[in-house]
Amino acid sequence: MTKNVNKNESITSQEENFSQWYTDICLKAGLMDYARAKGFIVYRPYGYAIWELVRNWLDGEFKKTGHHDVYLPLLIPESLMDEEKEHVKGFAPECAVVTIGGDKPLTEKMYVRPTSEVLFCDYFKDIVHSFRDLPVKDNQWCSVVRWEKTTRPFLRGAEFLWQEGHTLHATKEEALDETLGQLKLYERLGREVLAIPFETGKKTEKEKFAGAEATYTVEAIMKDGQALQSGTSHFFGQGFCQHFGIKFLDSNNKQETPWQTSWGVSTRLIGAVIMVHGDDNGLVLPPYVAPIQVEVIPIRFDKDPKVKQAALDLVEALTKEGIRAEADFSDKTPGWKFSEYEMKGVPLRIEVGPRDLAAGNVVLTRRFDGVKQTVALSGAAKAVPTVLKDIHEAMYAKALAYRDSHIHECHTYGELKDVVTTGQGYAKVMWCGDQADEDKVKADVNATSRCLPFDQTPFDDKCAICGKPATKVVLFARAY
Ligand SMILES: [Zn+2]
Repeated sequence: MTKNVNKNESITSQEENFSQWYTDICLKAGLMDYARAKGFIVYRPYGYAIWELVRNWLDGEFKKTGHHDVYLPLLIPESLMDEEKEHVKGFAPECAVVTIGGDKPLTEKMYVRPTSEVLFCDYFKDIVHSFRDLPVKDNQWCSVVRWEKTTRPFLRGAEFLWQEGHTLHATKEEALDETLGQLKLYERLGREVLAIPFETGKKTEKEKFAGAEATYTVEAIMKDGQALQSGTSHFFGQGFCQHFGIKFLDSNNKQETPWQTSWGVSTRLIGAVIMVHGDDNGLVLPPYVAPIQVEVIPIRFDKDPKVKQAALDLVEALTKEGIRAEADFSDKTPGWKFSEYEMKGVPLRIEVGPRDLAAGNVVLTRRFDGVKQTVALSGAAKAVPTVLKDIHEAMYAKALAYRDSHIHECHTYGELKDVVTTGQGYAKVMWCGDQADEDKVKADVNATSRCLPFDQTPFDDKCAICGKPATKVVLFARAY
């Protein structure tokens, strides 16, 4: 964690209390507020706008690869939920249930969707009959409800916004390609948009999605050394389709069962952005998810009409370059405005003041590292896209260096425990594959297996936890 001498006094420092720092940012940067219903939050415009930018980018990519948006109902009848036993066992304990409609008790309970697999299966069985109906590549943008007892804004709560993709394919290979293709897309979202280097891999049997054959994940490491599962992609095999009687006739008129996937990311990503990039002065937004990319701060504009005009012209020129820019002409002092937009994490501030203006210049200040640059006013708008790109790259490089320094190869159980309990990030260990080890780590130090990384190069022959012969490389960490 970095110490900052110019700390914003209204935010708890990361070092003092990381969890309070996080809550301070969520509230004070205007991202959310707590709602009247316990466990629920209000997504305020500035927070929602970050989600919108994530959504727009992903939506464009989904459409490019032939996916279509659909919308299925909010409620799942109990009889439908019960059709897939493993799945219902996984989700029922955290479901909200509707038992009254109008003023009459319902004859059948209705689950508020915690996820929509069974709804999709029920719908797919009516629309898929022949190989010509495949593949089906649907995506739904919606909210889901899981009755969590604790609220941590964007990370854990009763309701979150997400996308859930659901696809059916004629062959196993095609479904596996889809599963891993979407995982790669989430990895690109991290690399190209969020400036977050995700750790990717496969979940263990214990941690996989209820009803899936395999779950793949993108994990990120936060500034307190804890991991955050940031997106998952599931390969369902044919299990759900068999349960729900989804069949198709192949080109030889033979009846076959399709292969299925589902994949999703949620508003948790906002939490990831806050905790990967934020500092003691507030939020630090990567440029491509910043609702405001440039804040123009006019200095003494009330005394000098030329300053006001120059600021207005600059915002107009920036907008023409496709930059999300605005100027603050409120009567607050420039100092107040500097800390306000630092708090809100605006990537670039441009000061327009009488003295610099007389020399034909403006001053650019980067939020994430405070680097200042004086540029000619005439070329400022054209220079900004490159400056934002540089900021994005530098933020990614910094997050990558942090991530890489928070993966530790451990050879003993003592080393594993030390790494996960002292905020050092992931303990990378060789493991025998026995679920009892995962239970033990959870009980002893409250850490979980995050993933089996794709690179499975062994570095020891004994399981670090129980000493039996090791067969897998696995990452353990404490997680949100
Ligand atoms: Zn073991």
